[in-house]
Amino acid sequence: MVTNPMARVGSSLILICLVGLLATSSWAQELPVFDAHIHYSQPDWSSYSPEAILALLDNTGVRWAVVSSTPDDGTLRLYEKAPGRIAPVLRPYRTRADMGTCTTDASIVAYVQERLKRGVYKGLGEFHLSVAQATDPVVKDLAALGARHSLFLYAHTDAAGIEELLRLYPGVRWLWAHAGLGEPFEVVARVIDRHPALMSELSLKSEVAAGGTLDPRWKDLFLRRPDRFLVGTDTWVTSQWDRFAQIQTGVRAWLGQLPRDVAEKIAYRNARKFVGLP
Ligand SMILES: [Zn+2]
Repeated sequence: MVTNPMARVGSSLILICLVGLLATSSWAQELPVFDAHIHYSQPDWSSYSPEAILALLDNTGVRWAVVSSTPDDGTLRLYEKAPGRIAPVLRPYRTRADMGTCTTDASIVAYVQERLKRGVYKGLGEFHLSVAQATDPVVKDLAALGARHSLFLYAHTDAAGIEELLRLYPGVRWLWAHAGLGEPFEVVARVIDRHPALMSELSLKSEVAAGGTLDPRWKDLFLRRPDRFLVGTDTWVTSQWDRFAQIQTGVRAWLGQLPRDVAEKIAYRNARKFVGLP
């Protein structure tokens, strides 16, 4: 068989292009990730042992994780297996029923104070609240505990809610879950610009890269404020653990569309600094 030299040149060029493409994305595939939104709650325990969770983190390049759970025992079980990579965050919910009453139930404060004696926690949360609940007594007490013990507070709330929390409790380091989740881009960008100490976490914020392509407005915001964002999965139901690898692949795909230094900050550097893991 006689090979056509031009065809060989053509296939070499294709090969070079493919290698080039793989090279640009390979750094994003290998970025260490600090997942800032993990729950390991009771319904997960029968499907995923702590060892299985840690193996999943290993296999997906997730080197560190912010973990909270209902009840808190799930967080501690993971932490005990890997204290160097799990940042335990104390959730003020003893059971799921506390979710609805947490901000006004004084027994929550006693529970949190008792658990804090372990001295392992990096933050308090994630807890859910509306703007109207920001002045509730338990929120006030949690903010005071956060300030006293240098713990960040992890709030799932809308833009009005986070701005009210920042106004009422300026001595606390706030992490805004899901960057307000349903809040439109313009609103999130305004909050980020107004409050230089606020950190935002991006789990479930699918509009950042709908269809896999980084939204140009979000890309501009990340370039303008590279120090203010963390990535996360939010394993709020067990099915999120089943999809964990797929979610991580999606996050890496959009991180790879940023300059590498910005992607590294959002993937793990910002979280390590904010959470206080070496
Ligand atoms: Zn959550």
